[in-house]
Amino acid sequence: MADLRVLSVASELYPLVKTGGLADVIGALPTALAAEGVAVRTLLPGYPPVLAAIGGDARELHRWTDLAGGPARLLAGTAAGLDLLVLDAGHLFARAGNPYLAADGRDWQDNAQRFAALARVGAMLARGLLSDYVPDVLHAHDWQAALAPAYLALTPQARPATVLTVHNLAFQGLFPPGLLRTLALPAHAFATDGVEFHDQIGFLKAGLRYADRITTVSPSYAEEIRTPAGGMGLDGLLRGRADRLRGILNGIDTEVWNPARDPHIAATFDAATLDVRAANKGAVQARLGLAMSAGAPLFGVISRLTEQKGLDLLVQTLPVLLQMGAQLAVLGTGSPSLEAAFRDAAAANPGRVGCLIGYDEALAHQMQAGVDALLVPSRFEPCGLTQLCALRYGAVPVVARVGGLADTVIDANPMAVAAGVATGIVFAPVDAPALTAALRRAVTLFADRASWRTMQSRGMATDVSWTGPAGQYAALYRELVGS
Ligand code: ADP
Repeated sequence: MADLRVLSVASELYPLVKTGGLADVIGALPTALAAEGVAVRTLLPGYPPVLAAIGGDARELHRWTDLAGGPARLLAGTAAGLDLLVLDAGHLFARAGNPYLAADGRDWQDNAQRFAALARVGAMLARGLLSDYVPDVLHAHDWQAALAPAYLALTPQARPATVLTVHNLAFQGLFPPGLLRTLALPAHAFATDGVEFHDQIGFLKAGLRYADRITTVSPSYAEEIRTPAGGMGLDGLLRGRADRLRGILNGIDTEVWNPARDPHIAATFDAATLDVRAANKGAVQARLGLAMSAGAPLFGVISRLTEQKGLDLLVQTLPVLLQMGAQLAVLGTGSPSLEAAFRDAAAANPGRVGCLIGYDEALAHQMQAGVDALLVPSRFEPCGLTQLCALRYGAVPVVARVGGLADTVIDANPMAVAAGVATGIVFAPVDAPALTAALRRAVTLFADRASWRTMQSRGMATDVSWTGPAGQYAALYRELVGS
């Protein structure tokens, strides 16, 4: 029986709306928390796919004639087995496509109003908008929800405890100060010790300042963001609140990501049937136009193509990779220059580099099941989910030693290999020479079939589920409510 009620406020949820790892977390954590006696309701914007998903069973719980410039309703419903509250406000959310960007690739002009409205409704719910549902904890995720703890702290009435989780400090939600009144923020809050961040209103800053607890998605990232190098201008505030900050690693949904029962892959397998992966490797090679070579080490990338992910370094080191007889398969979208770089590389190296510029969930599964190694050379990585999926699928992760990548992959140094505990290759610093050395190490290890297989098995035995992390979140909530 659930004894603790948590209202999670977020802007994405897998499988309804996803632009990155945040959606995976919001979709998977509630189920894991239920096993800990925590009942999570998730407040989401009423984007078209969310409204369609709750469809017929949606119940109207509240109605506003004017919420941020138009009528709005709060709906309750279930989708994907989750208990959802949905803010149906057509003037804010009834837009096709990306939750944050218009078709021209720019931010929606009214993102401040859109997500402030979401956060305000979260704060209203926390304060008893619904007589039969008052949460014990409000848990806000990222800048889109981060004003909720600020709204609660900035007015004196009784309120539940608040938690803010930072999934990526790089996205801060910065808006012009002229919006202060529109966003229902008090004038006195526009100060360094309030919601101001370098003359702008900082949504994430506000949450970091006012939440009772801050979490981020790995212990290493929790340390990195307290340093000038990793703090994106917020390190001072985070150092000041270090006693409120902790890192809790993400897990993955081990039902969605289960190589033994994955409907997206050519051939299902487990640690005892690793030979079956060959069929999946062939499927990836065929799909991406690569030569059907079983012996060539096949490296994969499944990623947003951005500066953060360090993939420009991979473009630089590609000649070395190819010279070693390896193949590269890339699935991603993002910056036009990186998209072009990978397209050009594929065109220049037919059969050896293949890329699909786009977002393709099924291919992501097929690649995890088929590539020999998954490359994640990120400059920073709050947690990273693709390396966790790789571990589960017997794809050996080759990762930069940053954030959650450092916390989840055990480097194949000679001692770790001898002891049979290595799960991947971890390199530092994040630059082209270190990546080149890591690729060389990977290819050398790949040739040693027994060691490679031990690494694969060890990776597959790693617990990447939500069970441990959910226990830590439950403990945090209980600490906050004093139970
Ligand atoms: P981030 O949230 O920074 O994008 P994560 O590694 O935390 O990175 O999460 C990324 C998620 O998005 C993973 O589930 C990954 O499989 C998925 N993903 C990223 N790019 C693509 C793509 N082009 N097609 C399919 N899935 C993708």
